Amino acid sequence: MPSILIQNGRVVDPSQEMDRVANVLLADGRIAGYDVSPTGQETVIDATGRIVSPGLIDMHVHLREPGFEEDETIETGTAAALAGGFTSVACMPNTEPPIDTQGTVEFIHDRAERADNCNVFVVACVSKGREGKELSEMGQLVEAGAVAFSDDGAPVDDAELMRRAFEYCLMFDKPVLNHPEIRELTQRGVMHEGLTSMILGLSGIPAAAENVMISRDIALAEATGGRLHIMHVSTIDGVDAIRRAKCRKVRVTAEATPHHFALTDECLRTFDSNFKMNPPLRGSEHVEAVIAGLADDTIDVIASDHAPHAIEKKMRELDQAPFGIVGLETSLGLVITKLIEPGILDWSSAIRKMSLNPARILGTDRGTLQVGAPADVTIINPKVRWKVDPSAFLSKSANTPFAGWELTGRAETVIVGGKVKFQRD
Ligand SMILES: [Zn+2]
Ligand SMILES: [Zn+2]
Repeated sequence: MPSILIQNGRVVDPSQEMDRVANVLLADGRIAGYDVSPTGQETVIDATGRIVSPGLIDMHVHLREPGFEEDETIETGTAAALAGGFTSVACMPNTEPPIDTQGTVEFIHDRAERADNCNVFVVACVSKGREGKELSEMGQLVEAGAVAFSDDGAPVDDAELMRRAFEYCLMFDKPVLNHPEIRELTQRGVMHEGLTSMILGLSGIPAAAENVMISRDIALAEATGGRLHIMHVSTIDGVDAIRRAKCRKVRVTAEATPHHFALTDECLRTFDSNFKMNPPLRGSEHVEAVIAGLADDTIDVIASDHAPHAIEKKMRELDQAPFGIVGLETSLGLVITKLIEPGILDWSSAIRKMSLNPARILGTDRGTLQVGAPADVTIINPKVRWKVDPSAFLSKSANTPFAGWELTGRAETVIVGGKVKFQRD
């Protein structure tokens, strides 16, 4: 493997509190050094005017394989990840079969290796079959390489099962990622419950359904000492509960999605199912709370909740269409356009939330450009203007609410393990 010298880029690496123009040398799949001059032996990448970031990590992605290959495959999902600037993704276990055996974890690792795109970390089921009744064989799943546990797609409804999941995961120092929803409160709901749902005559999903589950999970994490990661937080009280729990030193982390900081429930006036997701798009006061939570680091991570659905599924009537949107190829552009450009986050804190923090939560040695770390690097053009064109997505699905949006900033070169895996021309 030839060495690569990335020259004259602005290197932003929160793990070293680095933000300066530098040359970075990659050799033998690792970060090999800084401020070296070319010897003529390396492949040189000119990164003048570019941001050189530790490889971005999206810790909430649905790759759909096995079982739903009409929506996405491991090959197409990881190609979409690269195009979005991600060198690693964590995939969720609501596949068919669900990821609750060593064999399924191995299958995913094997497919990811064959696809040879980005790294894939496996999040395995909390419960056998994602049925919410019995804990999965967590020890075996960890042995097979599972990095965390979740029943996402659905919450862990049973509080006793959740308590035992925390206790078990403590033995392996793994986090439990929960989808915060009390399902008794969200039956048949299509969108956020509020003035807009009332006007449109659509059944609502109340913020309370999320708030109650977040509070329950924080209480259980506090009682057990377990590690809780709250997925896609979207409400005022949810953000507030996490903020207060962190003050008490509860082991809780949280993520927000780009759609929850970029869109409101008003979008549903179009009756377009590409605005239907779970948790739903909320009212503007909730969106402001999510943004405030990102700004004050209550929310540690930005993750896409990439949820591809084949067009024939999303084309159904709003109440019949499945929840979820694709996100891998728009996530970075939305962060730059909606958070960095307006000055809500600086580059260092944005990269922390899209690389270092997810790496730490998942317990991997990535998310850093320290000498010796795996050479996962994302080179970003922070100024380029581009238009979201779903027909150009590498994802197998195109269910995005951002079609036609003008965004600023995009990944240009994506390097995984010292090899250039994506280069935009
Ligand atoms: Zn979820
Ligand atoms: Zn999800």
